[in-house]
Amino acid sequence: MKLISIVVPAYNEEANIASMYTTLVQELEPLPYLYEIMFINDGSSDGTLEEILKLANEYDTVKYISLTRNFGKESAMFAGLKRIRGDAAILMDSDMQHPPTLICEMVDGYEQGFHQVVAKRSRSGESKLRSWQSALYYKMVNSVTDVSLQDGEGDFRLLSRKAINAILSLSESNRFSKGIYSWIGLSKKTINYENVVRAEGDSKWSFGSLVNYGIDGIISFNMKPLRICFYTGFLVLFLSLLYIAFTFYQIMARGIIAPGYFTTITAILLLGGIQLISLGVIGEYVGRIYNETKQRPHFLVDMSNVDEYDEP
Ligand code: UDP
Ligand code: MG
Repeated sequence: MKLISIVVPAYNEEANIASMYTTLVQELEPLPYLYEIMFINDGSSDGTLEEILKLANEYDTVKYISLTRNFGKESAMFAGLKRIRGDAAILMDSDMQHPPTLICEMVDGYEQGFHQVVAKRSRSGESKLRSWQSALYYKMVNSVTDVSLQDGEGDFRLLSRKAINAILSLSESNRFSKGIYSWIGLSKKTINYENVVRAEGDSKWSFGSLVNYGIDGIISFNMKPLRICFYTGFLVLFLSLLYIAFTFYQIMARGIIAPGYFTTITAILLLGGIQLISLGVIGEYVGRIYNETKQRPHFLVDMSNVDEYDEP
């Protein structure tokens, strides 16, 4: 019988773990599959680990990894995917925002042979402003990046073993999963569902972290910002040459008329600005190269009751 692994990253979710487990089991038991539920405690400071340990002691199907500190959801998911043994995995949040009732439909998609079965959420219950911002963001990202991202499609998805291995093979440390899912390709089916509000606790996203995440999305999957600098540089050079020729001609024809304060200051400001932007973009990439060359592990495991899973 095939094994389905549920991967659940949890950061300060003590109030949700037990109920999450109960609902998951209700959905998983009737399926003609073996299952394991992999909780990843991402350095929680509350009783999350204790809640997970309670379950792991009681049920063989509960596996866990506890990271030494808070590495972020991306790293937590990576840690989980590395250690599950399933023929397929389902990534889920631990706050019940990803309805377990969809598992059945996702597994159906898997049966049909899809490598990724994605649950796409609507934006109901969200503020107009937030929905509008996201729509704008996706438009912008899709126009500049090499991968295509869909609004409402997040980490809640089923991945076949092939998709899991593909994801694991992208070992970069600046992980932007939404881009990675799209980058690996493979056949994909989408299921729609209504947005659900979080069961207990608060979202871990602040406005600042959302903005940072947005920038990651733009930078992680393309070199276009660098190319924009390149093109702008050429355009500016071309325009300045034209301007120099024009001014030179004027001086030859009529002599020096104005002291030229305006042109000087405009040129300095314009070029200064462009140079700064370019430096910023280059700096962003240099930063990433620096990060990658360090080849740090994505996570350090503090405790776990499973070994790393090696492909047979
Ligand atoms: N999460 C995590 N590490 C973090 C932040 C979040 O493992 O540093 C987990 C969190 O416990 C939850 C999921 O990632 O299961 C989604 O987090 P959250 O609900 O805060 O995000 P939102 O649903 O608001 O996008
Ligand atoms: Mg949530």
